[in-house]
Amino acid sequence: MVSQHPPSVDQLARSLEDTGLPHPLLVDAARSAISSGDASDVEVRARGIAEKMARNLLTDVINGTGVLLHTNMGRAPVDVSMNSGRYTNLELDLVTGERGSRQDRVPQLLAKVCGAEAAIVVNNCASAVMLVLAALAREESVAVSRGELVEIGGGFRIPEVITQSGAKLVEVGTTNRTRVKDFAKAIKKENVVLTLSVHQSNYRIEGFTESVKISELAELGVPVVADIGSGLIDAGCPWLESGPPSWLMNEPAAKQTLEAGADLVTFSGDKLLGGPQVGVIAGNAELVNACSSHPLARALRPGGLVLNALEKIVLAYLNRDSDAIPFWRMATLSVEDLLSRAKVISEQWASETLSTPGGGTLPGVEIPSAGLVIPGDYSEEMRLNDPPIICRVVDGKTILDLRTVHPDDDEVIAAAITALGK
Ligand SMILES: *Cc1c(COP(=O)(O)O)cnc(C)c1O
Repeated sequence: MVSQHPPSVDQLARSLEDTGLPHPLLVDAARSAISSGDASDVEVRARGIAEKMARNLLTDVINGTGVLLHTNMGRAPVDVSMNSGRYTNLELDLVTGERGSRQDRVPQLLAKVCGAEAAIVVNNCASAVMLVLAALAREESVAVSRGELVEIGGGFRIPEVITQSGAKLVEVGTTNRTRVKDFAKAIKKENVVLTLSVHQSNYRIEGFTESVKISELAELGVPVVADIGSGLIDAGCPWLESGPPSWLMNEPAAKQTLEAGADLVTFSGDKLLGGPQVGVIAGNAELVNACSSHPLARALRPGGLVLNALEKIVLAYLNRDSDAIPFWRMATLSVEDLLSRAKVISEQWASETLSTPGGGTLPGVEIPSAGLVIPGDYSEEMRLNDPPIICRVVDGKTILDLRTVHPDDDEVIAAAITALGK
């Protein structure tokens, strides 16, 4: 066999320029192709590596899964379009010309929508809980029911967060039943400075159970922090003309949890709030201030782009304009409307489907929906489409749920289905 002379790294990299990747990345692709096999098919290998790199850059995708808050797709979709190359007044008070705080604007609007005295915004809910504990309970004890020592997706474990914050965990009650007496005893014996109530977002305990209400914890004489996680702002959903959808069930809401006596609530921005990835701490002004002035607050603060996306969402809540909150717009679409969109895409494959809220919220909840159901597994063809379409495969059928698809993308889906020869 004649051994082929390998092309130079630079030559090979240049031959891949049409992938659109910057030269240094093409050089990496070329090097890795040259070192990983013989010279005969080095061009093909290099192109494969470069295309994989290009495909995995952060990009818009079409979510056809029907999972409204899909962790792999950034949970809630938001509008992050802003100031093409311009400055902002992020920390400038435009009225006085003095230095302002990024925490003075959106967080105060958020406090208003959830009926809190004050609020601050941090990187995510995990950091919100961590900051609250570090600011209010460092080197002191925090009482938590054994039924609420939960793990949320991505390794957020309440006992570990408490340890990391420098607070000491005092476990109260049992896995299935905890009473207010258990908390009272712990507070008397253990120098507990706050009680923490954690929403069991992603699972349920059924049967012989008992848990302590926020209003009962509020009677015990130490501050009550409620990590509601999922970020429903108000159980009455005043931003929805038709009121709260039935699938929300007994989801705790920030406003009602504060009204029940919680001193602080913490929640995510990108779950039922429908905003960007942030964590919110809202409630009693003095406690919020203690959090804002803790050194960790500086480390956990969000950037201007995120605050801008959040501001749009919060203004939409204040305007009671659910159409401007993509999550709520999609969550409340009617099955009839979705089915007629599906029929325009493909009369043959249009079908009713089931969406889910996702994001580790409302386990087991299904929302009647509609889309395309095609026999066979076409998930790979769909994922490799440009733009990528992410779908579900159940029982050998490809499901494209239109609830989570922007109507402007229906044509893309129609073209991708035609390309399948379907
Ligand atoms: C989701 C969730 C968290 C974590 O929120 P992130 O914003 O993902 O950090 C914490 N607590 C509860 C109860 C949650 O549901």
